[in-house]
Formats: sequence, structure tokens, C-alpha cells
Amino acid sequence: MKVGFIGLGTMGASMAANLQTYLLKSNHGLVVYDVNRQAGDAHVAKGATFAESPKALAEQCDVIFASLPGPPEVEAVALDKDGLLAGMKKGAAFFDLSTNSPTLVRKIHALFAEKGLHMLDAPVSGGPNGARSGKLALWIGGEERVYNEHKAFLDAIGDQARYVGPIGAGSVAKLVHNCAGYCINTALAEVFSMGIKGGVEPLALWEAVRGGARGRGRTFDGMVDQFLPGKYEPAQFALKLAHKDMRLATELGRELGVPMRVANMAYAEMTEAMNRGWEKKDSRSPMQLQLERVGLELKVDPQRIKEALERDPPAKGDPKRS
Ligand code: NAD
Repeated sequence: MKVGFIGLGTMGASMAANLQTYLLKSNHGLVVYDVNRQAGDAHVAKGATFAESPKALAEQCDVIFASLPGPPEVEAVALDKDGLLAGMKKGAAFFDLSTNSPTLVRKIHALFAEKGLHMLDAPVSGGPNGARSGKLALWIGGEERVYNEHKAFLDAIGDQARYVGPIGAGSVAKLVHNCAGYCINTALAEVFSMGIKGGVEPLALWEAVRGGARGRGRTFDGMVDQFLPGKYEPAQFALKLAHKDMRLATELGRELGVPMRVANMAYAEMTEAMNRGWEKKDSRSPMQLQLERVGLELKVDPQRIKEALERDPPAKGDPKRS
């Protein structure tokens, strides 16, 4: 069996190298391609073949991975006349490891399906270090059977390959993850600028808040008590008290002349929730306002949440969950 890998950049070079180690042990061959031919030198030195085009690579391979900058490059590699669609063997599978547009991956998936080819989106999370060490999450969207058949290759690339749902689901999960990260960064820059202007030494401030409830839990763990099950009563922490905290924080910002766009927006959401009469509900109840705006109601079964936490437990030092 031959495996193809296209795009040997910061992430792809290491992922292909780890895949190659596995392929060498299991007697499979590796074929690589990159617009920059030198990017494949290390893999060729270990026995890989360099293909002349994505089409030429596809003609030889049963499964193909790609780690490309973004939608235009993936579209070109997949659909151009010298691309994968023109060369892939019937029944072969293409895993797109790039961070890509869900709409584009669904389009490629549909065009591939017409020719009896499989396409799965499989974006990764873990950065260049994770790509090197193999401590990498892969979020897969597409046909579950094809995912299961190729799981060994995915496990050679990362330690947390997970099937998320139909085609596009992996890309949606990746965008949710990265968007959450950058929104959190925006909020952190804002509140730390307020704290430092408020006279606290940056490292002392960071060490202090890192030991708090938020600091000790995993980023997304706070969603399991209220947001996912849609249960805001009884309150763990009443909205009325949280609203007071945010009033104090935004007042401090005003006193210090610190612009606090994110905090004032969060405070406005909390005020709107107070005006709904939710002051005795949990402080996360304003999250329902956004769900209302998009016409969503969440009611994830608490038993399923419990099982998910058992599969992947909260941080050890999280005071809320230990
Ligand atoms: P990169 O720019 O370092 O690597 C891209 C590689 O693709 C390069 O070697 C380039 O020569 C090659 N390439 C570009 N166009 C091509 C084409 N048409 N045909 C063949 N090869 C082509 O990018 P990266 O940081 O390795 O990221 C790759 C993907 O992984 C991106 O979608 C990125 O968003 C995602 N990602 C990156 C990180 C990170 O921390 N770098 C983390 C997670 C996900």
C-alpha cells in the first residue's frame, strides 16, 4: 500500500515524518509532493518518492494526506487538471489536514463522491511542537467507516484522532476552537491591561489568577454544568453577584482610562439578562441570550456529559470538579 502526503511545511513536514516512521515499520511506501521540492528532501532521504504533481502522486496512492495553507491551495491540489481528482484510484481516500472552509470541503467531497472517491476533513490542533511529538488532535468529518479503516494512519500522526460527524464537521470544530482561543486572547489582553494599569505587577497578577477557579480548570470545562445541559437553576453563582463583579471591573476600567470593549459587551449581556428577571439564576444564564438570537435550545443529556468527562477527565487541580 502506498500513502501520499502533500504540503511539507511547518506542520506537514513533521506529520509526514511521523507517518513515514509508521509506514516503514508496516512495509508501506510514502510518496510526497510540495511546490517547494526541497521540502521533501528529508523524507526522500528516508526512502520516500517525490511525485511530479498531485495527480502523479494520486495515481500511485491508496490514501492521501494534505497539509496546505488554506482553501485556494487545497482547491487547486484537489480539483485542478493536475490535481487529485484527475488521478485518484476508485475507492481511495483523501484526508485534508489543513484548516479549511467547511463549504469548500463539502464541495470537494461531493465532486469526489461522484467518482467513487472519499474525502474527509481532518484539521489538526497542537502546533508545530505537537506535529513533531505526535501530541496532536485530529478532528475528522466524513464517512465514519472510512475514518475507522484509516485510523492507524491517523494515530501515527496524532494521539487524539476523533470522529466528529459528517463531512465539514471537523473543520467546523477547528474553527470553533481557534475562534474561541482568539476571543479569549482579546478578553485576556483587555483585562490584563486593566490589571497592570491598576498597579499589579504582571507576573504576580498572572500567577494569582492562574490559581483561581478559571485558571485551574480546562478552558471548556465550565460549559458542562449550565450551557450544555441548559440548566441555570439552582445557581452555582447568582447572576446578581456576577453582575456586581462586572460592574466593579468595568468601573475600574473607566477610572483607569482603559478601553474595555469585550467587558462592556459582556456586562451589557448580563444587564439584559438581569432585566429578564434572571438575577437569581446562574451567572452563565446570559449565554442563553445568544442561543435565543440564533433560535437554538440546548438540552444535552447529563448522562452523556458525565460519560464524556469520564472518557477525558477535568484538570486534576480543578476545585469545581474534584
Ligand atoms: P506552511 O505554510 O508552513 O506549509 C504549507 C506547505 O504547503 C508549504 O511547504 C508550501 O510550500 C506547500 N504548498 C503551498 N501551496 C501548495 C500547492 N499548491 N501544492 C503543494 N504544496 C503547496 O503552513 P503550516 O503552518 O504547516 O500550516 C499548514 C496547515 O495547517 C494550514 O492550513 C494551517 O492553518 C494549519 N495549522 C497550522 C498550525 C501551526 O501552528 N502552524 C497549527 C494547526 C493547524
